[in-house]
Amino acid sequence: MTGRTTRADRLAHPTTRDAIRAVAENHGACLHPIQLRRINTDTGQTDQVLIPCGATLASKCPPCAERAKVLRAAQCAEGWHLETEPIADPPPPDEVQAMWVEHRAQAQAMRDHAEAAGQDTAELDELIAELDQEIASSGLRGKADPARSRPRRHRSTRRRQDASDLPKRRISPRTIGKTYATKDGKTFRPSMFLTLTCPSYGRVGEDGIPADPDSYNYQRAARDALHFAALFDRFTQNLRRVLGYEVQYFATIEPQRRLAPHVHVAMRGTISRAELRQIIAATYHQVWWPSTNTVRFDGEYQPIWYEARGGYLDPATGELLPTWDEALDAIGDDDEPWHVVRFGSKFDAHGVLAGSKDSTRCIGYLTKYLTKQLGECHQPGTDAQREHVERLADALRYEPCSPTCANWLRYGIQPKNSRPGLVPGACQGKAHRYDHLGYAGRRVLVSRKWSGKTLADHRGDRQAWLTEMLGLPATDPARYRWEQVEPHDKDYLPSGRRLLRSVADRLQWENALNEARRRAQEALAAEVSANGRAA
Ligand SMILES: [Zn+2]
Ligand SMILES: [Zn+2]
Repeated sequence: MTGRTTRADRLAHPTTRDAIRAVAENHGACLHPIQLRRINTDTGQTDQVLIPCGATLASKCPPCAERAKVLRAAQCAEGWHLETEPIADPPPPDEVQAMWVEHRAQAQAMRDHAEAAGQDTAELDELIAELDQEIASSGLRGKADPARSRPRRHRSTRRRQDASDLPKRRISPRTIGKTYATKDGKTFRPSMFLTLTCPSYGRVGEDGIPADPDSYNYQRAARDALHFAALFDRFTQNLRRVLGYEVQYFATIEPQRRLAPHVHVAMRGTISRAELRQIIAATYHQVWWPSTNTVRFDGEYQPIWYEARGGYLDPATGELLPTWDEALDAIGDDDEPWHVVRFGSKFDAHGVLAGSKDSTRCIGYLTKYLTKQLGECHQPGTDAQREHVERLADALRYEPCSPTCANWLRYGIQPKNSRPGLVPGACQGKAHRYDHLGYAGRRVLVSRKWSGKTLADHRGDRQAWLTEMLGLPATDPARYRWEQVEPHDKDYLPSGRRLLRSVADRLQWENALNEARRRAQEALAAEVSANGRAA
């Protein structure tokens, strides 16, 4: 033994920094805590408080992402099998509210008369704005005239979606599914777990790789992914129309192995497979966008921004390109929609009972990939898989992702809200990014009356539980002022020290919680034995 170690030996030891991260992860301590200053406004005492970063992606902060996922699972579980309506019908307006609404109606009538008579409406508009404020502060939600001060585009509404041939029922305001009775008189109220997929773009193998990449319809796959959220929205509308009540759902969007999005849905109430098949077949979303069949600008030849006229022009002719509105107006009566999105005919549906193992399993399934971006869910392991990812990314590169997408310039159209610096193929929209696979919408779609609570309410529930469990006194928010500590502040903790503090805070919580649990168990045991002696 010489006591000498080689570079390789030394590098084989973990660094202290890595070890701290690993310990933090094991204990669920945030890796990037945010430092706040809590100032007691009575005494002036200042404490440094670290709060978790709250990331939802494991690539940013695994412990916070895990907590976010658990919270989503709790939200899902709470609404799925509800037996009573989560949101009570709001009461009728009180006297004060009714009074403001009456004033508002009269002011509107006066304003409309004045306008019709060609008089100045400025003063009445001011009065209306004040009345709207009174209405809001009286506790009413929403606006008396939502269209006010939002000038609408004067274009025909001809581009409506064609109506689907589904039975139409009046939608009753209930959100709870039906109950069923067994022969021996037990009743139960099943819910459902659904999975809806995109159609086929060409045959794929087990590994999600197209059997023939050249004939696989990457363009259709890209467009379907871009408009998948709108399609799901249509589906829920149709579901409600067919079932005749305000069906509630907790849905998550995930990629299949072939990298097409699919949606898992926890739905309150049930639907027969036959009805579901009918709804899926009749559900589609038409996208009425200008044609992208002809590439007008490519390579070096690109439209240029002309500041004086506030638009892009063709450098060859000096003519301004049609604006977004002009391009929309040019869509003719005989034109087809730019794209129609539909679901594939394959779907999965089964009933789930409250409190069953299956219910827990499905919730695990629903939330499984929420800590990952869509593109991270199935890491390509083979060359063929990498090529599949590349081909899809290529297809997404020049597809317009939205009316404001820079790619419209490629097809000779100024995007909506045009501004200088737009480059086709370099749109900043999320949909084009590798890790989004064309889907830029929200990953979790929850209907409004799912649990009657927002995610923040659910988080509050957990905090309240913890505070009670630990027997902490409720802190009076009025007594404290909070400030974020900035890197240039004297009391700013460098990241290494913040991470250590984050671990220490977490350990302290864990110990306190374990202690509280132990005491609760002892109390229970004492009660049981006392009852035993009394009997
Ligand atoms: Zn974090
Ligand atoms: Zn775009």
